[in-house]
Amino acid sequence: MQYALELGVSDVRITDVAKIPIDNQFAQYCREPGCPSFNRSKSCPPHVMGPDRFREFIKGFDRILVFKFDIPWSVLLSNDRIEVNRVVHETAANLEIHALANGFEKAVGYAGGGCKDLFCDHHPECRVLSGDGVCRHPSQSRESMSGMGVDFTRLAKIVGWDFSQSPNPKDSSTGLMAGSVLLRSSKIRLTH
Ligand code: SF4
Repeated sequence: MQYALELGVSDVRITDVAKIPIDNQFAQYCREPGCPSFNRSKSCPPHVMGPDRFREFIKGFDRILVFKFDIPWSVLLSNDRIEVNRVVHETAANLEIHALANGFEKAVGYAGGGCKDLFCDHHPECRVLSGDGVCRHPSQSRESMSGMGVDFTRLAKIVGWDFSQSPNPKDSSTGLMAGSVLLRSSKIRLTH
């Protein structure tokens, strides 16, 4: 948590993996009505494990660390959100790498949104999907939480974060961009 704060997050919490709200319909929204990132990288549906397998996968973990950046809606509704989204991916990757280096074996970071436009915009295709090799940015990009069906609005409320869901670029209200890291160690103190 200290390292997350050093990386500049607005807040960080830790809760039990059993509290992660996973909704199959949420992952379906990536496909229909559809997200621009759908099927454009190995980090988004239909190439990630999806809700049913994710429910099984998280049984191998005890805790989820959740971090957020409070961002003005004027930024979130502009092209500047791309830079913020890139920082979210890099923060999730850095926290995962930090956790692995400090004894949390199997730590896995997740971010919000697809990585293609953030890191490989100048390439015609995701290198993994095109079959040309491994990810070009393994220390920066992470898989999408939405693709696993994680309802982050509910998760934010569970860990005690309130935020405006009514975008208004003309006032000072903020929305949030967030990511997470699955951890296996029941010795980690819960914050929620
Ligand atoms: S190669 Fe690019 S688009 Fe594909 S997973 Fe890595 S960062 Fe994402």
